[in-house]
Amino acid sequence: MIVAIDGPAGSGKSTIARLLAQRLNFLYLDTGAMYRALTLKVLQMNIDLDDYENIIVQAKNTEIEFKDEKVFLDSADVTSDIRLPQVDKSISSIAKIPEVREEMVKIQRSIGCSTDCVVEGRDTTTVVFPDAKLKIFLDARFSQRAKRRLGDFRQKGIDVDIKSLETDLKARDTADMTRAVGPLKKASDCVYVDTTDLTIDEVVSRVYSLAENKLKIK
Ligand code: C5P
Repeated sequence: MIVAIDGPAGSGKSTIARLLAQRLNFLYLDTGAMYRALTLKVLQMNIDLDDYENIIVQAKNTEIEFKDEKVFLDSADVTSDIRLPQVDKSISSIAKIPEVREEMVKIQRSIGCSTDCVVEGRDTTTVVFPDAKLKIFLDARFSQRAKRRLGDFRQKGIDVDIKSLETDLKARDTADMTRAVGPLKKASDCVYVDTTDLTIDEVVSRVYSLAENKLKIK
């Protein structure tokens, strides 16, 4: 069974998907981490963000693995580095390339076909797994999402200014919602959950009971 969760940055997707997967004993698949890992590689190799040909070659020749809640890029542990602000700034340029998305979707589907999983991202309910048993769209007010992102950075000791964080978040929202392939949108058969005024526990309980209902009728 696949539970697919989409939503904008700061809506709580990663936290909720991870906890839900633990509770259901499903695999947790963070599709954003895959785009992040490829972006990190492009930055590390000093590839121009407009050099689509080279980026597509990298997408086809990069090994991204998930092991013990860690993310590996060509065997190197990049769990922390993929969350750096410079990756946030550049990722939209990579994620909009259709051939890159094609590669990522292929890998995501092969993982999802082999096991029960909770998958989260931007296009998991619409493109990657449109037939997922349960589809959820997580959302929250912009100010709350910005506050959560600021908290994430501060927790990691990364100093960011709230104004530039808000500017970057807005730019990423727009890029994610307007790209031609795999844009973020709410599928008509998604359950919509606004997490603005909910605690993590409240959201997890809500999505867990939705999943339980689906499991019963499996
Ligand atoms: O979920 P997260 O914020 O880590 O995703 C980072 C970025 O990766 C998103 O802003 C988006 O540009 C890209 N992404 C995507 N498709 C997905 C998941 C993430 O384009 N399924």
